[in-house]
Formats: sequence, structure tokens, C-alpha cells
Amino acid sequence: MRLLIILLVLAAGPVAVWRGWIEVPDRWNPWAPLDIAEPVNFLTRYKLGRLQSDPQLCVQALATSSVRYSVQADSPADAKCPLVNVLRVQGSDVRLSSSFLATCPVVVAFAMFERQALQPAAQAVFGQAVTQVDHLGSFACRNIYGRSEGRLSQHATANALDIAGFRLADGRRINVLKDWPGDDANARFLRQVRDGACKHFNTVLGPEYNAAHRNHFHLDMGGWSVCR
Ligand SMILES: [Zn+2]
Repeated sequence: MRLLIILLVLAAGPVAVWRGWIEVPDRWNPWAPLDIAEPVNFLTRYKLGRLQSDPQLCVQALATSSVRYSVQADSPADAKCPLVNVLRVQGSDVRLSSSFLATCPVVVAFAMFERQALQPAAQAVFGQAVTQVDHLGSFACRNIYGRSEGRLSQHATANALDIAGFRLADGRRINVLKDWPGDDANARFLRQVRDGACKHFNTVLGPEYNAAHRNHFHLDMGGWSVCR
């Protein structure tokens, strides 16, 4: 009986939040849409995950960002690498070296990362903004490392983005391949960017992970949680 009462009390809180009987700030409400400016908390990953199966919720989240995008039609289910709930991103407050295709959770994570990690790191280290992100692509219908066998890469579902470098407002370029090994401001910036990316993406692999990643940060929203 006592256990039953405890369970009822534990259940009553979430139900009251869900029904709207108790007002809590959106960032503490698992059913509220994600806001790009919300500081990351333990609900963020859950909210990002929900966006993949709910394109409407995705559009709501992106409305809080400056991301410019178009919705890509889902590909037929019998395609070798079917794309579902995928957007083509043209830019945001930063220019992109080219537009990229990505799943909604990747786009929203990118928008949060840009605002909450990338720009603050650039301001902290250089006192200026990042104006362009140079990337190596997002969608590629292939296995991991392009092997002929094994599991499909997160790139096969456009659930990943490879970032190779950044350009600052004064024209300076920062490049993962060239600048990661150093110990100057560029290297310090790249480490802050990598650590910040880990708060927003599920998987972050960079030069510290292996030689295949010496020239880029691989960012994805797959189920593997790792930050290297
Ligand atoms: Zn990658």
C-alpha cells in the first residue's frame, strides 16, 4: 500500500506537467518543443530524439533558430539508403561552404551547437564571430570507413556531418588538419569547439579518435555516445 502511494505521488508530477496543471519552464517540460537557445539539460537528448519521428515538432524547434533550410521529400522505403525527415540546410548565422542534407535532429543539434558552443568559443578565444563553417559532407550511402562490409555509417541516413574548419569575421581560417596538433589559439579554439559539440551531438569523433578523423570532426545523432 505504501509503495502504491509512493508510485502515485511519483506519477502525479509528470502527469500534472503533461496535462498543463502545473506550469514549468519549457526546458523542464519533456512535452514542450525544443528551443535552440535553451541551455542543454538532461531532457535535451530526449527532445532531440523525438524530432526524428515528428517533422512538425522539428519545424517548431527550427523556428527558434536562424537556420535556413528546405524540406527534402522522403525517399522510397526500398532505396538502398532511404532518407526520412531530412532537410537541406543552406545556412544560418554562419555561411556554409556548401549546403548539406541532414536529419532533423542533426540540424537542430547543429543550430544549438552553433549558438551555444561555436560562437561563444570564437568570442572567448578570438573576440570575434565565426562567419563560415567548412564541411566535408553529411550524406553518403556507405558503410563505416567506406568498407565493403559491416554496418552502415550514420552518413548513410544523413544523420552525421563532417566539419573540417571555420572562418572568422577577419578572414582568418582555422583548419582541423593543420591547427589541431598545435598549442596556439587556433588549437585551443578547436578543443573548445570539440568539447562543446559533445554537449549537443551524441557522437563526436576528431583527430584524437583515429587517423581517419585527423582532418575533421565527425558529428552524429546515432545511438553511440562518445566524445573523442
Ligand atoms: Zn563522418
